[in-house]
Amino acid sequence: KAKSRGLSQYCFYQPEMAEKTAKKTRMEQMLRQALEKNELLLHYQPQICAQTQALVGAEVLVRWQPEGQPMVSPAQFIPLAEETGLIIPVGEWIFRRACEQYVEWRAQGMHDILLSVNVSPHQIQEADFVERFVAIIEETGIDASRVVLEITESLAIQEGEDAIPKLKTLKQRGLQISMDDFGTGYSSLGVLKLYQVDSLKIAREFIRDLSDDHEQRTIVNAILAMAASMKLKVIAEGVETKEQYDHLRLQGCDWIQGFYFSKPLPAEEFARFAGGGRLTVIA
Ligand code: C2E
Ligand code: MG
Ligand code: MG
Ligand code: MG
Repeated sequence: KAKSRGLSQYCFYQPEMAEKTAKKTRMEQMLRQALEKNELLLHYQPQICAQTQALVGAEVLVRWQPEGQPMVSPAQFIPLAEETGLIIPVGEWIFRRACEQYVEWRAQGMHDILLSVNVSPHQIQEADFVERFVAIIEETGIDASRVVLEITESLAIQEGEDAIPKLKTLKQRGLQISMDDFGTGYSSLGVLKLYQVDSLKIAREFIRDLSDDHEQRTIVNAILAMAASMKLKVIAEGVETKEQYDHLRLQGCDWIQGFYFSKPLPAEEFARFAGGGRLTVIA
């Protein structure tokens, strides 16, 4: 393309840019093989009832450990997977693996906590998204009412109204929908209603400065009051301190997720955490 238009126009191309592109291409090639090479794994972050401190759920968070390389953060490779379309097989692997793990845990006697899985708008966009997810639910035998799909506000922009009937079908199958990172995007009450969400997750950004920033506190309190009047469950993410936890609990936040209780854990460690004498309430 550059050639046909005359190369001279494209001489602004900087070496750092070339390096960046090469790095991205390398990472894309590695990510293509990550599934076959068994380099993806799942961590599970406990979700805690604010009032009773019982374990109520787990958020599934994917990890990528390329052979002989440092761990790559999902904040880095999920956007790349979305750009390249790899999010489709990767996302399907994540959902299947998480459901299998959950069923295994239940067979071992773990309580029926909720299992929250992040789904990218690109996955929901696929024509057979609903069929694929329903098939995984049936094949693994997981209780659909324990499954929560975490969607993001960007879905409303990228996909518009096509997503609504799909999510509705999944809700009819018993799944729950949660709005992730609430407050950071184009969130509105309309979007929550439109997608018939069951819960929302207050973004970490709002929790961070909760203890000493009056404005953040006002925002969080307003979200909690609004959610209560809409009968939505609220989960606060990124809770790291006792001060943040206390504030949220006193303001009626339902569930807490964050380093204050636990970081995301490998499966065996999560099972140990769940077995640690914590009473489980059914959400
Ligand atoms: P998210 O869904 O909002 O996940 C929460 C992120 O906050 C996780 O980062 C988690 O490790 C981190 N976190 C939890 N508690 C605390 C805390 O107390 N303090 C701080 N500073 N951080 C906390 P992680 O695992 O790096 O994931 C980043 C993002 O990558 C996720 O944000 C999600 O958008 C995406 N992601 C992760 N796993 C998946 C997946 O399986 N599928 C898809 N589509 N996206 C995923
Ligand atoms: Mg999430
Ligand atoms: Mg989040
Ligand atoms: Mg996020």
